[in-house]
Amino acid sequence: MIKLVIDRDRCKSCGLCVAVCPRRNLRLSESINEAGYHPTEQCEEGKCSGCGLCALMCPDIVFSIYRVRGRGESNE
Ligand code: SF4
Ligand code: SF4
Repeated sequence: MIKLVIDRDRCKSCGLCVAVCPRRNLRLSESINEAGYHPTEQCEEGKCSGCGLCALMCPDIVFSIYRVRGRGESNE
């Protein structure tokens, strides 16, 4: 299982991550963060593949991606 963590207060609403996500899983929120920007958010929990493109593109180090191992999953 993939866990995508978004540090919303670092986001500056540039939209690069939204454009690059192959799953179309990111959008700019209607809410405003501490800096006054509309931060990116996931469209749907569980839709992220963990490809890492958003983290690669983001100039503000907003994303952290974790692979959460459940019971029965191997380490391969
Ligand atoms: S890790 Fe990949 S699939 Fe997940 S939100 Fe980022 S770009 Fe989209
Ligand atoms: S690339 Fe980074 S700064 Fe730009 S909208 Fe996405 S999360 Fe925000």
